Amino acid sequence: MSNIVAVNGLSFRYGDRLALDDISLSVTRGSMFALLGPNGSGKTTFFRILATLLTPQDGTATIDGFDVVKDCAAVRRRIGIVFQSPSLDIHLSVAENLRHSGHLYGLRGGDLQQRIDAALAAVTLADRRGERVKALSGGMRRRAEIARVLLHRPQLLILDEPSTGLDPAARAELWRHLGRVQAESDATILVTTHLMDEAERCDRVAIFDRGKLVITGTPDELKSRIGGDCVTIRGGDLKQLAADIDAANFGPARALDKALRIETTSATKLAADLMQRFGERISELTIGRPTLDDVFIHETGHVFETSSESTSSKQKGRR
Ligand code: ADP
Repeated sequence: MSNIVAVNGLSFRYGDRLALDDISLSVTRGSMFALLGPNGSGKTTFFRILATLLTPQDGTATIDGFDVVKDCAAVRRRIGIVFQSPSLDIHLSVAENLRHSGHLYGLRGGDLQQRIDAALAAVTLADRRGERVKALSGGMRRRAEIARVLLHRPQLLILDEPSTGLDPAARAELWRHLGRVQAESDATILVTTHLMDEAERCDRVAIFDRGKLVITGTPDELKSRIGGDCVTIRGGDLKQLAADIDAANFGPARALDKALRIETTSATKLAADLMQRFGERISELTIGRPTLDDVFIHETGHVFETSSESTSSKQKGRR
C-alpha cells in the first residue's frame, strides 16, 4: 500500500528552541496512525506543519505527493483538520455550521445536503442537526467537528488531541466513531495524543520525545521489543526500594509515578525473589504484559510524564 504522508528530515525551531529534530516517517494510506508523546514533545508542531500552518526550516513533508509548503492549496483540499480548541459557532445549529463550512469549500445545493446527511450519519448526530451547538455535550461537539471536516471528503484527517476535555465515556464514543469513519470513508486518520490507551487503538504509533522520533511500529511490535513481562511494585519509600532492588541485582527498577517497574523474562521467579527479600516493604506486586508506557521508558530511559499542562486544553492555533 502506498503512503499518504511522507516526512523527511523535518526540523522546526521556535527561535533557539528546537521543537522538531530531523523527523522522518511515513503513514500508510487508509491506516489509523498515532503520534504519541508527552507534553512538549513536538506533536502539535508536527500537526501544524502537516496542516500547512507552520513552515519547517529543514526537511520536507508531503501529503498525497503534494508538498505542504509549495503545494499548500492542493494539500488543504486533501486534509481535514480538527484542532484541540473548539472551532464551531456555538450559537448556530449543527447543520448551519456544516453548511457554512461546505460553502467555504464551494459546495452547494443537493450535493452539499447529501454530504451533510452522510457526515452527520457517520458520527451519529443526524437527529441533533437542528440543535444549537451550545446545547450539545462536549463529546457531541467533537463529533460535530469531525462531521464538518468530512464534508469535502478529505483523504487525510488530522486531529490534535481530539479527546481533550472529554470524560472517559465520551472518549470511548469518539474513538468508536473515528474507527467507523476510517472504515467507511477509506480516509487515513492521524491523531496526536499523550494517552497510551488511545495510541493502542491505532494501527501504527510513532513515539515522540523532546522533538525526536523515538520509534515507530504497531503497538504489538513496540511492546514485543521488551521481550518479556513487567513486574510492577507499590510500597513506601520507592526511591530507597529501587536502590536496594538494583543493589541486589534484581533491577533495574524504574520509578513510575507511584510504582516501580522491572522488565524481566522470568516474572514469576523474580516476583518470588522480590517478595522473599523485600516483602515487608512491598504493598502490592503485579505481573503484566508490557504497555506502551513500558516501551517509552525502555526506549528513552525516562518516565512518560503527563503533566497537568498536557492534560488540560492548551489553546492552540485556529484556521
Ligand atoms: P506537544 O504538542 O507535544 O505538547 P509542542 O509542539 O506544543 O509539543 O511543543 C514542542 C516544543 O516547542 C516545546 O518545548 C514547546 O514549549 C515549544 N513551543 C511550542 N510552541 C511554541 C511557541 N509558539 N513559541 C516558542 N516555543 C514553542
